[in-house]
Amino acid sequence: MNEYQPYDYVLHQAAMQPSHTYATVWDSTFESDIERFATHGCSRLFPHENGTQSVFPIETIIGMNAGLEAEGYIVRADSIEELAEKLNLPVETFVKTVERYNELAVKGEDEVFGKEAYRLSTMDAPPYFGTRQCGGYFICTMDGIQIDDNMHAVRADGTAIEGLYVVGDCSGNYFANSYPNLMGGAAAGRSTTFGRVAGKNAAKGI
Ligand SMILES: Cc1cc2nc3c(=O)[nH]c(=O)nc-3n(C[C@H](O)[C@H](O)[C@H](O)COP(=O)(O)OP(=O)(O)OC[C@H]3O[C@@H](n4cnc5c(N)ncnc54)[C@H](O)[C@@H]3O)c2cc1C
Repeated sequence: MNEYQPYDYVLHQAAMQPSHTYATVWDSTFESDIERFATHGCSRLFPHENGTQSVFPIETIIGMNAGLEAEGYIVRADSIEELAEKLNLPVETFVKTVERYNELAVKGEDEVFGKEAYRLSTMDAPPYFGTRQCGGYFICTMDGIQIDDNMHAVRADGTAIEGLYVVGDCSGNYFANSYPNLMGGAAAGRSTTFGRVAGKNAAKGI
């Protein structure tokens, strides 16, 4: 898939894989790749040209990765075949997939999944790295308790339960259709803003 889509799209794909696991792979040009990818929100590791600072510096990730590699969570390989073996992936299929991806990256057009050209990067600079991940876990519920305009929990018949307020990710099916992570701050901003509204309502007894 094109992984530059809302988190839940990625997680749905991951959940459909055998044993719900997938692999993330990268090569030794990852630092310049990450800067060029210009990701938003909590994954920003370089300052944006619009002045937005990084969440934390790339050096933090490099240090974390070294620790994860020492513990065996991240594997390192000198060839694509070796990487596939270490990640327990079917070698021939993986090599073909990487070759095809590299072809499209050089061409600057993702004919398979439609990823933006500036986010394509060849996987051809050893050493290579990879990790197996367990998919399907999201950072919040996509469902939650129904609320009314005053942040009250409502009964199945739609009537408000006086004195019971619900705020944050668990309220109002806010993320029922998708988690808009390309709109940075939508989750934290909404939780704090409407948490304050609920608090004021509780103080006033509304
Ligand atoms: C890694 C990560 C990155 C994120 N990045 C972003 C981002 O860039 N932008 C963005 O908008 N959102 C981001 N979010 C999401 C955002 O942080 C959450 O949507 C938001 O914090 C949810 O607020 P909440 O009030 O629903 O829950 P929380 O902030 O989790 O608050 C729940 C509180 O309840 C307390 N609690 C739990 N059980 C009990 C109990 N039994 N008794 C008393 N207290 C209890 C907990 O200690 C906690 O303080 C990120 C989340 C994660 C995990």
